[in-house]
Amino acid sequence: MERIKMTTPLVEMDGDEMTRIIWQSIKDKLITPFVELKTEYYDLGLKNRDKTDDSVTVDAANAIKKYGVGVKCATITPNAQRVEEYGLKKMWKSPNGTIRAILDGTVFRAPVTVRGIKPSVSTWEKPITIARHAYGDIYKNSEIKVSGGAKAEIVVTDSKGDEHRKLIHDFSGDGVVMGMHNTDESISSFARACFNFALSQKQDIWFSTKDTISKTYDHRFKDIFAEIFENEYKDAFEKAGIEYFYTLIDDAVARVIRSKGGFIWACKNYDGDVMSDMIATAFGSLAMMTSVLVSPDGKYEYEAAHGTVTRHYYRHLKGEPTSTNSVATIFAWSGALRKRAELDNLPKLLEFADRLEHATINTIESGIMTKDLLGLSSLANKKGVETMEFLDAVAARLAN
Ligand code: NAP
Ligand code: MG
Repeated sequence: MERIKMTTPLVEMDGDEMTRIIWQSIKDKLITPFVELKTEYYDLGLKNRDKTDDSVTVDAANAIKKYGVGVKCATITPNAQRVEEYGLKKMWKSPNGTIRAILDGTVFRAPVTVRGIKPSVSTWEKPITIARHAYGDIYKNSEIKVSGGAKAEIVVTDSKGDEHRKLIHDFSGDGVVMGMHNTDESISSFARACFNFALSQKQDIWFSTKDTISKTYDHRFKDIFAEIFENEYKDAFEKAGIEYFYTLIDDAVARVIRSKGGFIWACKNYDGDVMSDMIATAFGSLAMMTSVLVSPDGKYEYEAAHGTVTRHYYRHLKGEPTSTNSVATIFAWSGALRKRAELDNLPKLLEFADRLEHATINTIESGIMTKDLLGLSSLANKKGVETMEFLDAVAARLAN
């Protein structure tokens, strides 16, 4: 059989631990037998990040800027224990943080759904995608503990040196104060990434904040979204037959629970942090959550939402069997190949991406699954298999 050809290289970012093992096997068993894989390879494994003083991460991000599409394996974000374990020169920053900062992107997370695993919310028929703003608010705040008798104020010194003050609170007893910010530039990027993604998925997009209470801060988000939508996206949305819908965060929560799913929910940083865990858990398992970073100028980076599954890796090193779920990593590959196919107009590659996803889903729906899904699945004939047995079962379906 002739293998499918590619024209532009995919930016491939290898990673760590159990997901690094799965990464190689996905390529060997599921992709290279069918596709003449063309990638520009960057080894983001912790050893190589240390060896290159982390320049490999920056190079990979710049390659995504150049080519437009990347696929990334989960990577270790080092802490003190990892510095010792790997004898690192320093505690390198999170690769995802570095890549996100360079691409200025928004992260979209969506669950892979399969027959036999019902969401906890019985009305949900289709996946819900969370778009999380990844800059500012409480994640870049300044906080102070204050004592009774203290007066807290916001002071903003403008470029001319003039001070603008606003009272926060006169404290009669002890308490706490917090200051946070966001920028029009970052909010605008977030809005454009959301609208572009909605168009590419042909799905409605909802956005929610608490603008009735936060009449300046949250209201700024609402206004920027509305302005960008009116001026740049309204016509394209009409043509695509999709909608932009703004509502209060509490109203959004109620509507999400009553909905059938099948839309994108854009959230501010904190809301997105909390709601993406809620959505992942309600749909089943973190191991089934896909994740894609989209930049405002339309560059895409695909990955799994979970980490390197360290506990399973240590078992693997001891020669013990593992049952690590590879679905989110397979979908990172299929998502990246599909996007490459769309951009380069390669119908055969597009069809392969669909086939790979169907083979994966059909394997689980036929009752073959990793052990994390066993307790969730209602199938009568379900069988828990090891990491490689699952990949082999998908490969067998693909070959048919
Ligand atoms: P994790 O790797 O997501 O694993 C946490 C636990 O969730 C696992 O021990 C396992 O539970 C379950 N799990 C996650 N993915 C699974 C899968 N594919 N199949 C089966 N079970 C799965 O998170 P972590 O242990 O907190 O972090 C490990 C390393 O990953 C850290 O070094 C962290 O820095 C890194 N990390 C990277 C990324 C990324 O690159 N995007 C994201 C998060 C974390 P059981 O052990 O109970 O089976
Ligand atoms: Mg979180």
